[in-house]
Order: sequence, then C-alpha cells, then structure tokens
Amino acid sequence: MSGIKERTLVLVKPDAMQRGLVGQIISRFELKGLKLVAMKMMSLDEAVLREHYAHIADKPFFPGIAKFMQSTPVVAMCWEGLEVVDAVRRITGITKAREAEAGSIRGDFAMSMGCNVIHASDSVENAEAEVKRFFNPDEVFSYDKSEYLHVYAEDERA
Ligand code: ADP
Repeated sequence: MSGIKERTLVLVKPDAMQRGLVGQIISRFELKGLKLVAMKMMSLDEAVLREHYAHIADKPFFPGIAKFMQSTPVVAMCWEGLEVVDAVRRITGITKAREAEAGSIRGDFAMSMGCNVIHASDSVENAEAEVKRFFNPDEVFSYDKSEYLHVYAEDERA
C-alpha cells in the first residue's frame, strides 16, 4: 500500500528485549505520529531468519546474528503512515549503532553493530514482503486514528 497507508516492519531485537527497551521503542514511533497496525511476540526459527537476512546469509557474521536473533523472542510490529518506511529508517539510525545519529533509536540506545536494538525495513518493496513474512493478513488491522487530524495536513490525508 502507498500514501498514508504505507506500512513498514519493525522487529525489537533480543538485546532490546533483555534491556527492557520495548516500551521506549514503541513510544518513539507513537510520538512521531505513526499508526500501530500489528504487533506480536514471537520466536524466530532458522528458516525465517535465512529468508529475512538472505542479503547477509553468506557473510561470516551471519551464524552469530542467527544465534543472537533466536536468543529471546522478538516483538514484531507493523507501523503505518505517509512515507513511513523512510521515516522509520531515519528514526532507527545507521547499522553501526555507536556511530548512529544522536536522537535516533540506535544512536540513543546502542553501541554495537550486531546488538543494534531494532530491525526496520529498508525499502517499500522489502517492507511489503517483510510484513507478509511476519504477519498473517488477519493480524494486520485497519482503523481510524483521530489523531491523524492533527498529525497530517488535509491534503496529505486525502
Ligand atoms: P540494517 O539492520 O541496518 O538494515 P543490514 O540489513 O545491512 O543492516 O544487516 C542486518 C543486520 O545484520 C544488522 O542490523 C546487524 O545486526 C547485522 N550486521 C550487519 N553487518 C554486520 C557486521 N559487519 N558485523 C556484525 N553484524 C552485522
């Protein structure tokens, strides 16, 4: 979907689960004005990780990442909004967390390359595939958010 209904996938990684950052991560996206349309806690198996991290599956660090991602359950979330894929990547910050911009989630909460708090989809195309990978259609909700009257200008809501 596009426009105000664009969607993106966020995973709260095991380092953030261990450090009790789930609430603060959700707050960042809520305060930005994004709409939460799906959320669940789940354990990731090797197969889903191979698919999700196909672009790094042949890297030497992949086995370590796969083990790390299975070390606790993760929280999967789908957020909706105008150009939300881009907006969430900005709020997430760059992969190497200790160099991520202050104010971003990785910039404020992490120091590591592997333990970098959250995953966020990096393109609209990948976001569509990733939301489908982690959620069944009936787990993704549509509802009106009254706050939108003040989050977006009228022409952006059209
Ligand atoms: P991002 O999560 O910022 O989109 P990538 O898709 O490139 O980054 O990589 C996926 C994940 O793999 C990263 O979030 C990070 O946890 C891990 N990773 C990437 N590159 C490295 C690396 N050089 N060393 C260790 N872990 C890495």
